[in-house]
Parts: sequence; C-alpha cells; structure tokens
Amino acid sequence: MTNQGVDLLTINSGEAEQPFCYTVGLEGSKFLTEIRDNKRFVGIKCPKCGKVYVPPRKVCGPCFTEMTEWVPVKDEGYLHSYTILRFAFLDPETGKEKPVPYGYAFIRLDGADTDFQHYVEIKDEKKVKIGARVRAVFEEKRAGKITDVKHFVVID
Ligand SMILES: [Zn+2]
Repeated sequence: MTNQGVDLLTINSGEAEQPFCYTVGLEGSKFLTEIRDNKRFVGIKCPKCGKVYVPPRKVCGPCFTEMTEWVPVKDEGYLHSYTILRFAFLDPETGKEKPVPYGYAFIRLDGADTDFQHYVEIKDEKKVKIGARVRAVFEEKRAGKITDVKHFVVID
C-alpha cells in the first residue's frame, strides 16, 4: 500500500508464543482439586478471627496467622457486586471470543467471608442484581482449573 508515493510499511508480531506454567500453591491446589474431583468448594478458616477465605490463602491478612483448617462452603451464594459485559473480546482463558452479554461478579458463597470472582450467566437481566442468589454450574469435564466452574446462574 502506498500513500503520497510512500510505501506504507507494516511490522507484524510474528508468531511469538509465550507458553508458561505456574504453581497455584498448596491452598490453590486443594481448592481446585475439590472442584475438579467433587464439584465442591472449600474455604480455609483463620484460627484466630474465624474468617473463612474463598478462594483460600495461606495467611489471614488482618491476623497475620497461618491457616490450615479446611471448611466446606456451599456452591450457592449471593452477588456482592457485578458488572455486565457487552463488548466481546478474546477470553484469555480460552483464546476464543466469549459470547456477550455475560456477567462478572464478586460472589459471596454461603459459609465464606470473602468474595469469589467468576462469571454469571445472563438470561434475564432484571434478575441480576446485588443480593441475587446464585448457584455454580460445573463443567462436565474438569481439569483442575477455575474454568471447571462454567459460571454461576441466578436462582431467585
Ligand atoms: Zn484472622
């Protein structure tokens, strides 16, 4: 292509793949294994203040105390906060365009004291609101990834 007699040059990024792998740690591994093998959520409880973290972490931030007590939490909870995405883009988890609209939410699972971030299926937008009850939908084939939870659905 030329413009005013000048060849307009282009540079492409080539085919630079950047494969990487990282550990999700002991707590992340236990959390994802429960989802993969049992379609269950687990949290970890602080022995000092009793706060239950989902997803789990090693240390309670306010208490600076190591946590080792695993506790079951429900696959249901409520929307603590959310947004609805209407602009399609490539999902970095899959490399494919994610159909819109879909919700992305901070979900407080029953039995947890922290929020879990995940997608929310949008069937009836009027039902998607802060405080709405939601339930996890698990993928049939699970691989030990957070995407083993397909999304949450509003159950109100
Ligand atoms: Zn604590």
